[in-house]
Amino acid sequence: MDLTTLFKISYGVYIVGSSWNDNYSACIATTVMQVTSEDVPKLIAVINKQNYTHELISKSKRVNISVLSQNSNLDFIAKFGFQSGRTSNKLSSVLYEIGNNNIPIITENAICAYETSVINEIDVGTHTIFVLLLENTKKISYDNVLTYDYYHNVIKGGVPKTAATYINQEKHKFNVSKGDDKMNRYRCKICGYIYDEEKEGVKFEDLPDDWVCPLCKTPKTNFEKEIENEL
Ligand code: FE
Repeated sequence: MDLTTLFKISYGVYIVGSSWNDNYSACIATTVMQVTSEDVPKLIAVINKQNYTHELISKSKRVNISVLSQNSNLDFIAKFGFQSGRTSNKLSSVLYEIGNNNIPIITENAICAYETSVINEIDVGTHTIFVLLLENTKKISYDNVLTYDYYHNVIKGGVPKTAATYINQEKHKFNVSKGDDKMNRYRCKICGYIYDEEKEGVKFEDLPDDWVCPLCKTPKTNFEKEIENEL
């Protein structure tokens, strides 16, 4: 089974947040979509059970989602994608408003936002699919929508291991060529940052030993060669 075919599914990039008893957290999710367009549209959001945001959603049954724009840079996304709400205040350095449901809405780098309530939860192993009733919408900007493809190929971002779309390359034994002279891409196993040799003009192996991931500051040893993203 060739799991690289899964790279061809299209996704957006969203901030999914919730709060409970004055505790707030939000995470980056690519797996948000509208699933019905009845009188009141329904959405789903798929969240990893390890995320603090998952715990807060389970308690509050409230979810606010921001649709991100292409103006989002890696530092902004890292605040939500690669730090835990258990140890960092995700609202401390970003623009936000409080929604009608009393849950913060991230407005920075957002095009629009949805206020929702949880009406069903489906356990899919590592993740939960939250089925959401749309209760309120908010227009924020007219920028271009950030797709996962743009995030991956233009912003050069990756996904953490808790992402629904993360694929463990070692576990699935992808055929990674070794020792060739062509330009390769290396992915940080911690945060998903992509080091692109062609773009950087320096082979990964030629980087100094004390080089660290520009996003999460982990050592060079935590990078792995990325498989081809083309079929
Ligand atoms: Fe990293």
